[in-house]
Amino acid sequence: SLSGKTAIITGSTSGIGLGIAEELARAGADVVLNSFTDSDEDHALAEKIAKEHGVTARYIKADMSKGDECRALVEKAGGCDILVNNAGIQFVSPIEEFPVEKWNAIIAINLSSAFHTTAAALPGMRAKGWGRIVNIASAHGLTASPFKSAYIAAKHGIVGLSKTVALETAGQGITANAICPGYVLTPLVEAQIPDQMKAHNMDRETVIREVMLDRQPSRQFATTGQIGGTAVFLCSEAAAQITGTTISVDGGWTAM
Ligand code: NAD
Repeated sequence: SLSGKTAIITGSTSGIGLGIAEELARAGADVVLNSFTDSDEDHALAEKIAKEHGVTARYIKADMSKGDECRALVEKAGGCDILVNNAGIQFVSPIEEFPVEKWNAIIAINLSSAFHTTAAALPGMRAKGWGRIVNIASAHGLTASPFKSAYIAAKHGIVGLSKTVALETAGQGITANAICPGYVLTPLVEAQIPDQMKAHNMDRETVIREVMLDRQPSRQFATTGQIGGTAVFLCSEAAAQITGTTISVDGGWTAM
């Protein structure tokens, strides 16, 4: 059980982050939800998780595109035992037309945020002699596709960051790993469909079957609960010697 452990999950008011928060809470962890919106729904979501799983659940606003807010999130939470760097955005465009501000935002939110939160969280983990850092990379952290230059650069980057943090914490009761999901049907994926339809000149069904799940041999989306379950496993005693590596949850994508 993870009872008595506090988990911060960045970008966790929807999609995979919310699925991870729910599974960690189900395993007994107190959870800190995060996004940049600070709406009534965000706080209600924390209340719902607290009630459902009998844990403490808080919502803390922080914009993961800003390094000082990333560090402040960890401070406001009072540190954490489990840090899940999940916040991420996507943008699809050929590199010549890729807007510079989109490149900068993707590198900041998908990669640099994890640098800042990890730096802020590690001293507390070292003091306790226990910690788990789970970075949500992607199959695109291990392989590439056209038109996603910033996302793929950031995801390869977070895999490298996970390895480096693993080496800097080895033997200290702390592990750092990256989960590499294939396609999980979430708002982020839903939002890519129109851009993919345009880039490939295909209708919705064809782009899902031929383009999106073309790389996923199972032809099935992974679920947010499955990603959450993998994060819970990485927090378990069985995973204490798993560090500096990646776990793919991709229906066979990276086997091809
Ligand atoms: P999503 O859009 O449903 O969720 C993204 C979350 O990040 C939201 O809660 C949003 O509020 C938050 N967020 C965005 N910008 C933020 C900011 N500046 N500050 C704080 N929070 C911010 O997307 P998702 O599909 O659940 O993606 C979550 C992670 O999983 C991302 O890192 C994504 O790259 C990764 N991933 C997703 C898939 C997939 O198929 N959905 C596959 C592989 C990896």
